[in-house]
Amino acid sequence: MLKTNKSSQGPVLILLGPPGAGKGTQARYLVMHANLYHLSTGDLLRHAVSKKTPAGIIAKKAMENGDLVSDELVLEILSFRLSEIGESGGVILDGFPRTLTQATMLDNLLATRSQAVSFVISLNVDDDQIITRISGRFSCANCNTGYHDIFQPTEVNGVCDKCGSNNFVRRADDNIDAISTRLAAYNLETAPLISHYNARGLLKSIDASKNIENVSKEIQSAISEITEAITQ
Ligand code: ADP
Ligand code: AMP
Repeated sequence: MLKTNKSSQGPVLILLGPPGAGKGTQARYLVMHANLYHLSTGDLLRHAVSKKTPAGIIAKKAMENGDLVSDELVLEILSFRLSEIGESGGVILDGFPRTLTQATMLDNLLATRSQAVSFVISLNVDDDQIITRISGRFSCANCNTGYHDIFQPTEVNGVCDKCGSNNFVRRADDNIDAISTRLAAYNLETAPLISHYNARGLLKSIDASKNIENVSKEIQSAISEITEAITQ
């Protein structure tokens, strides 16, 4: 899975979708089945904020409000992480690109690594479900595994399935004010990427309102379809 015969470089898969659509959840499923790195710009930025790095200090306010961080700052943080991965590593991008400018920046950055965007999966969910998903989201403070109060609880109450930690966190921006700002930013800045990648023949849209397992199956079959089309 997730290999094209056009190049020895690792594939670059973009998960596109509004906040709370399930990008992080699906990325974590995909990395269990494929030799890929999961790169979430939201996670990278939250780490920078918690460490109070210069980038984190700049990003903090915009993130709390639900606004986008500047294209340049996000690119800087992503390029650094990509350089750590090494030149042939395949990646799943979650939360990047989020603007047309970032899409161009990404093409340029990948070209320096002899890589290119391989596929884009767009996860479609309506606003009501987004709010339900985001309102119940929490994650392990130790290993960052994501959960949901109703849809994806821990197997044992209060204990992380993956690392056994008892510490969980909820995101500061998972509140109703920031959610509406984030949805507006998605509709204005990010949604145009759907037609951008569709025009390049790289996009597959998925109905992400189904349960986690069914969305995962749909993503895997979409990837197989696109891989076949690319390698024919
Ligand atoms: P994103 O990375 O797109 O912001 P997440 O992957 O963090 O979204 O998912 C948001 C919340 O919704 C999480 O609490 C997750 O457990 C839950 N979730 C993800 N996918 C589904 C799904 N298909 N059905 C129900 N809940 C889901
Ligand atoms: P996420 O974890 O993807 O929901 O992102 C959380 C927040 O981080 C967003 O609301 C933005 O403030 C910021 N962010 C993450 N990725 C980007 C990006 N590609 N461009 C701009 N801001 C971003």
